[in-house]
Amino acid sequence: DVQKETLGFQTEAKQLLHLMIHSLYSNQEIFLRELISNASDAIDKLRFASLSDESLLEGQGDYQIRVDVDKEARTITIADNGIGMNRDEIVEHLGTIAKSGTAAFLENLTGDQQKDSQLIGQFGVGFYSAFIVADRVEVHSRKAGEAPEAGVVWESHGESEFSVESRDKATRGTSITLFLKEGCEEFADDFRVRSVIKKYSDHISVPVMMVKPSMPAAEDEEEQAQEAPEYEAVNEATALWTRSRTEISDDEYKEFYKHVSHDFDEPLTWSHNRVEGKLDYTSLLYLPRRAPFDMWNRDMARGLKLYVQRTFIMDDAEQFLPLYLRFVKGVVDSNDLPLNVSREILQQDASVDSMRSALTKRVLDMLGKLAKKDGDDYATFWKEFGQVLKEGPAEDFANKEKIAKLLRFSTTHTDKEAQDQSLEDYVARMQEGQEKIFYVVAENFNTAKSSPHLEVFRKKGIEVLLLSDRVDDWLMNHLQEFDGKAFQDVARGSLDLGNDSEEDKAEQEKLEKESEALVERMAKVLEDKVAEVRPTARLTESPACLVVGDFDMGAQMKRIMEAAGQ
Ligand code: ADP
Ligand code: MG
Repeated sequence: DVQKETLGFQTEAKQLLHLMIHSLYSNQEIFLRELISNASDAIDKLRFASLSDESLLEGQGDYQIRVDVDKEARTITIADNGIGMNRDEIVEHLGTIAKSGTAAFLENLTGDQQKDSQLIGQFGVGFYSAFIVADRVEVHSRKAGEAPEAGVVWESHGESEFSVESRDKATRGTSITLFLKEGCEEFADDFRVRSVIKKYSDHISVPVMMVKPSMPAAEDEEEQAQEAPEYEAVNEATALWTRSRTEISDDEYKEFYKHVSHDFDEPLTWSHNRVEGKLDYTSLLYLPRRAPFDMWNRDMARGLKLYVQRTFIMDDAEQFLPLYLRFVKGVVDSNDLPLNVSREILQQDASVDSMRSALTKRVLDMLGKLAKKDGDDYATFWKEFGQVLKEGPAEDFANKEKIAKLLRFSTTHTDKEAQDQSLEDYVARMQEGQEKIFYVVAENFNTAKSSPHLEVFRKKGIEVLLLSDRVDDWLMNHLQEFDGKAFQDVARGSLDLGNDSEEDKAEQEKLEKESEALVERMAKVLEDKVAEVRPTARLTESPACLVVGDFDMGAQMKRIMEAAGQ
């Protein structure tokens, strides 16, 4: 029906809009990047859909994005001939926010603009960024393959509501017109807009077209006014990953990251590689600077953007990296996979398996490189994603040693909460005769640090890893050894510190003899509470401590199981 309908934004969308408008005006020009990025995504989607249904193209397979400015009307229009949206889709995509966890994310907002604008970056800015510069936005769209009458107009002043109404549209795709706010006239200026497009959209594989600057005063003005304006491409329009590494600047890599990741921040590092031979593919993998707000959501989108022979196939292809590397963003472009590849096929394809193990190694190498680099980058990575990487040894047996080298711990060497010591550091500091890597697991750092089990280690100057993350028991169960040295929980079973002197041994024997009677009495009293009572040299100040048997569940694991109702 043609009737105009006015609808309210979803609460979350409203909040996000408000936040966007108020926290990003120092960075206004990014709206253009976001809208061109969406236009490019829409074209990618159509290109893919047309592989199985060519009629969607309506005989027009010449993809492009057009940007028109009108200084007098103070408008800028971004138009694409991509997949388009129908009425329901436009309401859903531009009126609500589908990402799970959004409400929880918004609860974290502080009202402090500085902090909030960082949060918004973490969320991704997107379509609503149009309202940074516009006080009215009109979106006219028509879905590819549908009749002109299926055209729909979405309009909003960026407050609490928007309207939708049917309006014919002859060509498929979406055209977005921004009615610029006072003070934002610069975005109706041809020269200014060109430079913003150059800056942000060179790497987009579709041409972004603008009207060619007019020639100096034509002789026959009358005639010239009749002619349709001529357009020219403003951007380079080659998919970034297909270009050679030496030709790509860091800024271009960074911009491309923002496009693929929907992240506002810059990446921490990246790795761009072409592989030829038995497998033929290109990958461009990025490490984000910040964990997404939904990293611990089970249904968080993860995976790489998949292209086959430069044709976009799907977002979030999960098969190319293991779960413990789910923070990695990027693109993989394969020349071996068929264009009609589906998620199901990906799961069974042998070449995907080989790519997955090669890409996994690439990421681990990229992390290794980052760890060796001077500066805080690795610490930043570890703070954001260390807990996820700790899932690695359990999931990826083949790369256990490689992952182990990338782990960072807090230890009694520094007694600081920051996890910044590697296992290689630990091993280098091991005492003569020490054969094991000792660790203690507790609920939090302070409890770990003041555990009575550490007394004897501190006395002897033996370093102990202080573990208090939820995944740590899980990690230790799978790590087992590093550099040929077994891990030993100091709260488990009997202790062999490896450097007991003859004197120590005699002392221990004497102690055992002397305490025989006491031990027997205590064992009787605690009969149904403990498995065994034994004298120990591991305490120097506390009178007694509880230890776990060698083969029992760790204390942390026990707490997790209990929390899960087991
Ligand atoms: P994101 O791009 O991260 O999904 P956006 O806020 O930028 O978030 O866009 C929201 C959604 O609106 C997109 O996912 C898409 O479904 C739809 N959309 C936006 N712009 C276009 C467009 N030009 N053509 C078709 N769909 C679009
Ligand atoms: Mg977007």
